[in-house]
Amino acid sequence: MTSNPTRHRTFRPAPRRPFPGERRPSPPAPRIVVVGGGFVGLTLARRLERRLRRGEAEVVLVDASPSMTYQPFLAEVAGGRIEARHVAVPLRTTLRGTRVLTGRATAVNHDQRRLHVTLPDGTTMGLDYDELVLAPGSVSRTQAVPGLAGHAIGFTTLADALRLRDAVLTRLALAADTEDVERRRAALAFVVVGGGYTGVEAMAELQDLARSTARRYPGLDTGELRFELVETDAEIMPELPSRLGAYTRARLAGSGITVRLKTQVTSMVDGLVELSDGERFRADTVVWAAGVRGNPLLARIGLPVDPRGRLRTRPTLQVDGVAHLWAAGDGAAVPDLAAAGPADVSAPMCGATAQHAVRQAKVLARNLLATLRGRDLVEYRHRDAGSVAGLGLHRGVARIYGVPLRGLPAWLLHRVYHLAMMPTWGRKERIVLDWTAALLGRRDLTAADLVPGGLAARTDARAEVPA
Ligand SMILES: Cc1cc2nc3c(=O)[nH]c(=O)nc-3n(C[C@H](O)[C@H](O)[C@H](O)COP(=O)(O)OP(=O)(O)OC[C@H]3O[C@@H](n4cnc5c(N)ncnc54)[C@H](O)[C@@H]3O)c2cc1C
Repeated sequence: MTSNPTRHRTFRPAPRRPFPGERRPSPPAPRIVVVGGGFVGLTLARRLERRLRRGEAEVVLVDASPSMTYQPFLAEVAGGRIEARHVAVPLRTTLRGTRVLTGRATAVNHDQRRLHVTLPDGTTMGLDYDELVLAPGSVSRTQAVPGLAGHAIGFTTLADALRLRDAVLTRLALAADTEDVERRRAALAFVVVGGGYTGVEAMAELQDLARSTARRYPGLDTGELRFELVETDAEIMPELPSRLGAYTRARLAGSGITVRLKTQVTSMVDGLVELSDGERFRADTVVWAAGVRGNPLLARIGLPVDPRGRLRTRPTLQVDGVAHLWAAGDGAAVPDLAAAGPADVSAPMCGATAQHAVRQAKVLARNLLATLRGRDLVEYRHRDAGSVAGLGLHRGVARIYGVPLRGLPAWLLHRVYHLAMMPTWGRKERIVLDWTAALLGRRDLTAADLVPGGLAARTDARAEVPA
């Protein structure tokens, strides 16, 4: 990594109001406030806990949710292979040396260095800071499709995964009970919009769950189930080499999933799904997995964002042109120096992956410490290691440092890699137990009976549906 000329030799904490209930140290340590306790926020806070000297700085982490969600396991939660709570890492008990505040950041007044936070009971508070890190992640990238907000289920949160699981189980029960042929057909039709990793993994698990449930419901025939994967581009999972892409399409088609390429959903009003290729059918369950954009909070703070709603940063992860403000993860447009050619004047931006988020958080921790200690900053540079995806039990695809893998080896790699990346030993143990139980016994087909709702009915931190 190269050094950056930016130095903060004369760092002085800004005068600030104490945290509620805080006995104010004298003189006060500089306060680093982190918005978002996901991949970036959790990794960053853990690093700072280990590396900060006693009294060197106070770290406050603000998250609307009390836990971090390990999103790569959401498909397995939806499919019932992993218990939902086991992919959530509780922030307060994991971060012993960090002040955790459960509340939603609503606004930033950077001139006064104050963050505005709304607590779960609706009360608001101002939180003063010396350095602010914005890592609130992303939200589903929606489009102007009639009926989308009310009918589709997103696929970015734990609630989404549970809602999808519930939708599959309750629709199959309805199909088994109803005497109305049209209702039955709609209940047995499942659509996933978006053929990236998220959409493909969601479809594979959804299909596995639906088929194994249907086999156990008298009166249901798995041949009646309809699965449609709709993708705008000419390929699914474009990150894969074309041979692996073809393998994935063949696997999906072989298990009864129709893959529609170069196709768009044009409407889904009242569950009537209309596609750009002229196809129309009723489907009670539609999953929207057509990409993400930066959290809407980022566009509200008065700084320029890129077309994907992300704050532009320098390679040092400082927000471009703004001192004491940092960003990383899905909500940051970070130049991908490792992907840039030698003659590139402008590097491409890092993709929205956990792989980048975790590594950016480590560089960010280093640069925050450098700022406190008046040292040089380093630039973020990470060569993409590749990607792995599960396609249901014992099947997967992967490309690791250019080496393609498929079938059982790729599936095993998927599990081993994500287990290694899962924060805390306690969560790893629980996940291994869940996998063992799922392999030994029958699949758990209990519905959580959640309130039904589409993208517009979300109550969590990422509920905001961008215009
Ligand atoms: C289904 C799915 C599967 C995925 N699989 C993979 C994979 O296999 N490999 C991979 O590399 N990547 C994968 N990703 C992408 C990866 O999860 C993201 O890139 C990563 O989560 C980004 O980290 P982050 O810290 O920026 O955001 P997040 O991890 O999303 O964390 C953001 C945090 O901010 C909080 N927050 C949001 N708004 C506010 C607010 N206003 N105030 C306070 N807190 C707020 C949220 O509650 C959340 O905890 C997947 C994503 C999804 C959705």
